[in-house]
Amino acid sequence: MLWRDVHQLWLLLAPVASLIAGYAAYGSERQRHQRMQHLYESSELLQRTPTDGATASALLAQLCRVFQAEVAEVTLLPPHGGRNALSSVMRRDHFAETDRRVDISLLDELVHFAAEEQRGVRLSTRESTMPAVLSSRHLKDAMFIALRSESRIIGTMLVGNRLGDLETFNAEDLTLFETLAGQASVAFENGRLEDRLKHQAFHDPLTNLPNRTLFSDRLAHALTRRTAAGDGGVALLFIDLDDFKMVNDELGHAAGDQLLRAVGERLVTVLRPFDTTARLGGDEFAVLVEDAGGPSAAARIAERIVESLREPFLLQGRELTMHASIGVALAGDEPVDGEELLRRADIAMYRVKQRGKGAFEIYQSSMQEVMVRRLELRTDLERAVQRGELFLRYQPIVALDDEHMVGVEALVRWQHPQRGAMPPNDFIPLAEETGLIVGLGIHVLEVACHQVRAWHLAYPHHADLGMSVNLSPRQLQDDGFVIQVARVLRETGLEPHLLTLEITESFMVDGGPPTGRLNELKALGVRLSIDDFGTGYSSLSALQHLPVDALKIAKPFVDGIALDPQKRAFAQAIVRLGRTLRLELVAEGVERPEQRDQLLELGCHMAQGYFFARPMDADGVERLLRTEVRERFAGGVAS
Ligand code: C2E
Ligand code: MG
Ligand code: MG
Repeated sequence: MLWRDVHQLWLLLAPVASLIAGYAAYGSERQRHQRMQHLYESSELLQRTPTDGATASALLAQLCRVFQAEVAEVTLLPPHGGRNALSSVMRRDHFAETDRRVDISLLDELVHFAAEEQRGVRLSTRESTMPAVLSSRHLKDAMFIALRSESRIIGTMLVGNRLGDLETFNAEDLTLFETLAGQASVAFENGRLEDRLKHQAFHDPLTNLPNRTLFSDRLAHALTRRTAAGDGGVALLFIDLDDFKMVNDELGHAAGDQLLRAVGERLVTVLRPFDTTARLGGDEFAVLVEDAGGPSAAARIAERIVESLREPFLLQGRELTMHASIGVALAGDEPVDGEELLRRADIAMYRVKQRGKGAFEIYQSSMQEVMVRRLELRTDLERAVQRGELFLRYQPIVALDDEHMVGVEALVRWQHPQRGAMPPNDFIPLAEETGLIVGLGIHVLEVACHQVRAWHLAYPHHADLGMSVNLSPRQLQDDGFVIQVARVLRETGLEPHLLTLEITESFMVDGGPPTGRLNELKALGVRLSIDDFGTGYSSLSALQHLPVDALKIAKPFVDGIALDPQKRAFAQAIVRLGRTLRLELVAEGVERPEQRDQLLELGCHMAQGYFFARPMDADGVERLLRTEVRERFAGGVAS
């Protein structure tokens, strides 16, 4: 057609135009498609853990590619309270630097600038001057945006220096940039949330130390590594604070928490940064030392911890000394798993507690048997009260002048189904450690009070017979104890002054007596007596301030009273002290007549011991009550 008539050219216009339009459309469609592809890739990238350095540099590379930018930069502000922001920068094809720590004060301006802009901004030196915060980065043009979570700015994102044929970033670029920023924000925030949750799952919130889960995990790893490498030396230290409960009870939970935090901090400072210090719960901590190198080195570490805790803690303006019992277990040559190692350290720690606390012990296999027996006993003891295996013996307390019975002391016994009759010294310490003593003690109190009340009713001539019941320090720490005593008195109808509660002297040594508790008991009208006096280290002056009515002179002094001048002098001093403080005196463990004579001479009022009577069952006491009635009656007739 053209050849025939050049004027027909216009006919071509339409197809060519549509071809051009079509091509143009195809071009932008292709570009859009490419962009969609980029966007998709970026989203996918951001779905993965965004805080990971590799992902960060992949994201930066993606930004450079999508926007044909020379530079891309992402900065994340610290979550809360931290000083360090994380900055990742990439210069196209040159290098990427991820997760560089930047002090947040250096970012102030940048963040301010970002905060002012609600959306992304496009900047170019061609149109205006670069803001100062960006000009230092040598940019000719840039897109910049704040990464926002729901409540705050979490970081910033920037691309700069457009490369290639296009002059600068256009409106479409900006929209895409904003979309990506939105996705990145969500991803980073989720990542942080995940990190935070992860941290929470593996750390103790109070001390921020690793928790039991993380500790067990590290322990397991250390043990497998050790097996693989073949060099021994994993040590586990199990740390239990002594008498922590008292701090909690007396100073309150806030103080207890504060102390636990302080202990955690102190542990961390005496250990090396690569040792794992964890709080397992309550007042229990544990330390994992991976290259302990044998028992003596482990012992030195334990020693260091014991020492460090000995320094007083400052708590609510008061100085407080804390002791800890530490059990150490070493992974020796034979394979051992984490759980077993923990158990061994626990056993060794128990041993320390038994021996007097505030020290450490290294686990030995012989400890195992002792532990197993104790464990069995403990289970048995838990059921002993319900099964009625506990019963009481009563030992008469007599007036020294005429040897008539003024009262009895209740002494608990355990008829163990396999082991037979067990003396209290074989199971009371266990009951104290496990807390079973609280229930056991109330049971003893109930039985004893019912019994003496029954005697009062059956033998009116002996309606003034007293009953002494032993208490453990642990029972006095129990908040419900005073209420229980009041209840038992009410239920039995026993006159309070006929009940004497015996407290061992050691109770006064352990952190001093909670005089408040003793006063509450006194307020009920019961009598208080210090048992085994002279064997502990209580200062005699402390006695003046305690609301006690009687002292029981411990058996060792009574034993020596007739033979050993020193013991005699001491017994004499106790008697004098008792008289000065107007306390009743009861001598314990009198076995021979000359002891009785000496005690009378010293001026002691009362005594107890095999010489007068052994501990006996209720029938035995009743026989005595009946004979005493007869004797008194006979005596009355005679006089
Ligand atoms: P304790 O309160 O000092 O009781 C006196 C102990 O000395 C009793 O031992 C008693 O049988 C023994 N005894 C009395 N006279 C003589 C004597 O002339 N010679 C000798 N060798 N021993 C004598 P038992 O019954 O084995 O009790 C030991 C300790 O167990 C008691 O010492 C007391 O501290 C504790 N205990 C006993 N019953 C209870 C209880 O119900 N609760 C608590 N918390 N502790 C108890
Ligand atoms: Mg006693
Ligand atoms: Mg005693």
